[in-house]
Amino acid sequence: MKILVINAGSSSLKYQLFDMNNGEVLAKGLCERIGIDGAITHKRPGKDTFEKEVALPTHDEALALVLELLVSKEYGVVSSISEISAVGHRIAHGGEKYSRSSLIDDEAIAYLETIVPINPLHGPPAIKGIKACKRLMNNTPQVGVFDTSFYSDIEDFRTIYPLPYELYTENKIRRYGFHGTSHRYVSAKAAEMLGKDIKDLKIITCHLGNGSSITAVDKGVAIDTSMGFTPQEGIPMGTRSGSIDPSVIPYIMKAKNLSANEVEDLINRKSGLLGVSGISSDSRYVEDAAKKGDYRANLAVKMLANSIKKYIGSYVAELNGIDALVFTAGIGENSAMLRSMVCEDLDFFGIAIDSEKNATMPRGSQADISSDSARVKTLVIPTNEEYMIALDTLNFCKE
Ligand code: AMP
Repeated sequence: MKILVINAGSSSLKYQLFDMNNGEVLAKGLCERIGIDGAITHKRPGKDTFEKEVALPTHDEALALVLELLVSKEYGVVSSISEISAVGHRIAHGGEKYSRSSLIDDEAIAYLETIVPINPLHGPPAIKGIKACKRLMNNTPQVGVFDTSFYSDIEDFRTIYPLPYELYTENKIRRYGFHGTSHRYVSAKAAEMLGKDIKDLKIITCHLGNGSSITAVDKGVAIDTSMGFTPQEGIPMGTRSGSIDPSVIPYIMKAKNLSANEVEDLINRKSGLLGVSGISSDSRYVEDAAKKGDYRANLAVKMLANSIKKYIGSYVAELNGIDALVFTAGIGENSAMLRSMVCEDLDFFGIAIDSEKNATMPRGSQADISSDSARVKTLVIPTNEEYMIALDTLNFCKE
């Protein structure tokens, strides 16, 4: 069975075609600058890459080009689009309705349109991607896999903000959580690596990339997570501030005469590692500068490591224990420096890593970096949200 996974952004469309008989990626690629000028990169493992600047006025033209390439003589991997059994869509927000992956019919699209106000960045392009597939792929089932659905079992006292309750009932302001597909994937992988049933494990998963979040998983169920109403809450990120004293916002709006949009831009695109270091949002550059003794770069890295440590501590308390700590995504998978700073002096919790294993583990592979004496397993697991989406879509089709 072949499953196409689509991740539509405001000016981009990422895709991967999986053969689910063996989990192999047959083709993957990226349409960029949709609505601006347009370009596509189309890859097939072990074969030539196709790259072209081409006008892509809307997501419809982008998807049409992807489908054309998937069946083309030169760059194709299937003989007909009808070989694709279903499409899995990455959808950042499922609101309060979607507690699991679901078929996207007209009613579902209508619901997703009603929650655009609480998902203004990712909602509209995801809907465009779904509508393009519906138009161009006839009756191929479209399945939505929601970043928020892993968090639908989090108890209400952990999702409510201490604000007037009407802001929840009238405006749906509450904590939702994001990156759920990644946290779900790596927590399941962790159980697999440990050869244990996930129902017997308390796991803390750290998805540390350009956007970052931490999740507490008890018996396979997420019980708390660091992102909230938006992906802004939680630990500092590449350019996002993460949680700050809320009163800083009106204060800087008044002090610097900033509009709501300008302050939103400041906390989303000018803060985090970039804001504090003044060097980059990319932790590679910030870490390099910190190693060379740059004060602000060092401050940024220490701030980030300490914030992660505080979440781990609070989640150990909420879980009443921990069996495994997992690092994933760009920074979590690649930065031995950050992993070692986070895990330093956590032996009280039974967390201790082997510095040799941490420094020398092969990039891109999964690894157990715990020291032999550690009670808690510290694991590095490459995330694979696309595969998880394909798997959910496959399972949905089998039902
Ligand atoms: P992601 O959002 O998961 O793609 O992660 C992207 C981020 O991972 C980049 O912005 C970098 O900050 C970080 N990253 C990638 N490779 C490394 C590395 N070798 N060391 C430190 N950070 C890295």
